[in-house]
Amino acid sequence: MQRNSAKQKTYRNLMQQGTKTLTHAGITDTPYLDSLLLLCKASGETREQLLASFPDTASHKTVTEYNQLLQIRETGKPIAYILKHKEFYEHDFYVDERVLIPRPDTELLVETAANLYKHGLPDNSILDICTGSGCIGISLKAEFPDAAVTLGDISAGALEVCRINSQRILGAELPIYQSDLLESIPGPFSLIVSNPPYLTVDECLHPDLLHRGEPVKALQAGSDGLDIIRRLARQGFAKLRKKGYLITECGFDQALLVSEIMSSEGFTIKEILKDLAGCDRVVIGSVK
Ligand code: GLN
Repeated sequence: MQRNSAKQKTYRNLMQQGTKTLTHAGITDTPYLDSLLLLCKASGETREQLLASFPDTASHKTVTEYNQLLQIRETGKPIAYILKHKEFYEHDFYVDERVLIPRPDTELLVETAANLYKHGLPDNSILDICTGSGCIGISLKAEFPDAAVTLGDISAGALEVCRINSQRILGAELPIYQSDLLESIPGPFSLIVSNPPYLTVDECLHPDLLHRGEPVKALQAGSDGLDIIRRLARQGFAKLRKKGYLITECGFDQALLVSEIMSSEGFTIKEILKDLAGCDRVVIGSVK
């Protein structure tokens, strides 16, 4: 009986059901889009195909799979982890629970690094440290094939994801190091770019964040969220060439503190840039 009613569901019915379920779960601001993406995955259809076939009846297999995906999404697991990819800087990155899901705000780091690269660095050496999925360094290498980009992360799992993305996006592997910040990475570099962990312990206890299931190690940096940036500034200054730059992302209320930390290590603060929401998000320090 249940089987029959499942069989008779149209794609439109499934969309209505999914949107309602996810709205009720209160875990997403985009219940319709999420339902559409999950239905694409369950049915194997593209978005365009699906929109054109709304009145059609979905197969039993699609309905079953869709319901399973909805159940997973209801727990708060991000769409990117369910679909195993995320668009960043016009590239399609593989992601799973071993890495932070790339955020649109982090594209600002790539743009900033790209501008500095175009306007002249001491040489072409770039390091993306705390690289996670590799999204920053790989996007830079894709834009500047002549750049010597190195990637580093403390997590072995992240480096595996990084390797997948290097092959997937660049068709080749970049030099990748497993390293606690810059400790095991040879230098020097002209540009060090990083989206390090910068959330406080308290921020990481927020239920919305916990439900996402992202690696805490990629997010949390002590009671004030600055433990990693302090070490990054110290180690970075020692590993940069003269006239080189450190670009770091930070929390919406941390830019002044980060500037102070970087200045105290010897950097000259070149600029603080705002994210899409107008919050100070990126600090650029230069080595004179
Ligand atoms: N911007 C991320 C967030 O708010 C944090 C990323 C990070 O700690 N590097 O979830």
